[in-house]
Amino acid sequence: ATAARQSLKVGLIPADGIGREVIPAARRTLEALGSDIPKLQFVDLDAGFELFTKTGTALPEETVQALKECDCALFGAVSSPSRKVTGYSSPIVALRKELDLYANIRPVAAVAENPEDKPNVDLVVVRENTECLYVKQEVLTPGEHGLEARATRLITERASRRIGKMAFEIALGRPRKQVTIIHKSNVLSVTDGLFRQTIRDIPQASEGRYDGVKLEEQIVDSAVYRLFREPQIYDVMVAPNLYGDIISDAAAALVGSLGLVPSVNAGDNFVMGEPVHGSAPDIEGRGIANPLAAIRSAALMLRHLNYAAAADRIDKAVNEVIREGQVLTPDLGGSSKTEEVLDAVLKRL
Ligand code: ATP
Ligand code: MG
Repeated sequence: ATAARQSLKVGLIPADGIGREVIPAARRTLEALGSDIPKLQFVDLDAGFELFTKTGTALPEETVQALKECDCALFGAVSSPSRKVTGYSSPIVALRKELDLYANIRPVAAVAENPEDKPNVDLVVVRENTECLYVKQEVLTPGEHGLEARATRLITERASRRIGKMAFEIALGRPRKQVTIIHKSNVLSVTDGLFRQTIRDIPQASEGRYDGVKLEEQIVDSAVYRLFREPQIYDVMVAPNLYGDIISDAAAALVGSLGLVPSVNAGDNFVMGEPVHGSAPDIEGRGIANPLAAIRSAALMLRHLNYAAAADRIDKAVNEVIREGQVLTPDLGGSSKTEEVLDAVLKRL
């Protein structure tokens, strides 16, 4: 991802609910960057539950093909149907698979002076996103004393190595340069043992590249305890899929509103920004959705493509808006509209 690009082709998939309100805000933020990044080309794409109810498909093949022609993408949110709907499966899950987006990366950082935030939190959760219990191989069989349920948990060397490398690479770009492996090898010595050992072995094979990175490890239960008690000890946390799922939501709770937390889904050849929040049907269409998580997701996407200066500019503008506290949406205790928050960010850019 280091080659100089002439232009940057960005797929936009607002999908459902407030995704349609916050993705346009992220687009306008990217457009305001000017010459810090290559010339932008946006491609509007369809997906989502609403599309499914209209057309019977949640992720059209055209969308997948068009994305493969893009350098990166921004995804809004999908509504999760409250009951099981025949024929429907989540387009975001399918996209991660199609584009081999094996890492889910979620930075969580406190903004100074925001009273809701735990102070000094500045960490990134790097979650493996293709295997573990999410291979969904579950079987129910009759046993001697009633039903028995079993699930397969897959951990491979390949997936552990690539997620581990991703964590080391992210640590290299951060001041503290520390990676913590999250595992439960004391109980699951084979699966978590392989995850842990594979990542432990990465520095030796890196020809000195990761010499400056401090490697630590922590059993998952004590990691959660310490995440709540002293979150400032963490920098980059790397975890198998299920622990990563839980830890990334727990970490998000350390810093105020869901409307602030960004993420990217990343692979070796593609990166897709996605705000952590859902489609928020309760506030849809009222123009009050907080656009900052989506805007930060756009910054994170740029950071991943090695446009760190442009990403820093966006993050700085967003943090100023939060700190000043004058123009905020209702989820942060303000009374401003999505548009007004966007304008405040654009003004600072
Ligand atoms: P979904 O089924 O799509 O996950 P949900 O009902 O779980 O939807 P979330 O989007 O996960 O809703 O949000 C949970 C709560 O947080 C809702 O009350 C929602 O209004 C609020 N919320 C989430 N994102 C935002 C945002 N960007 N701005 C303001 N409020 C938000
Ligand atoms: Mg939700």
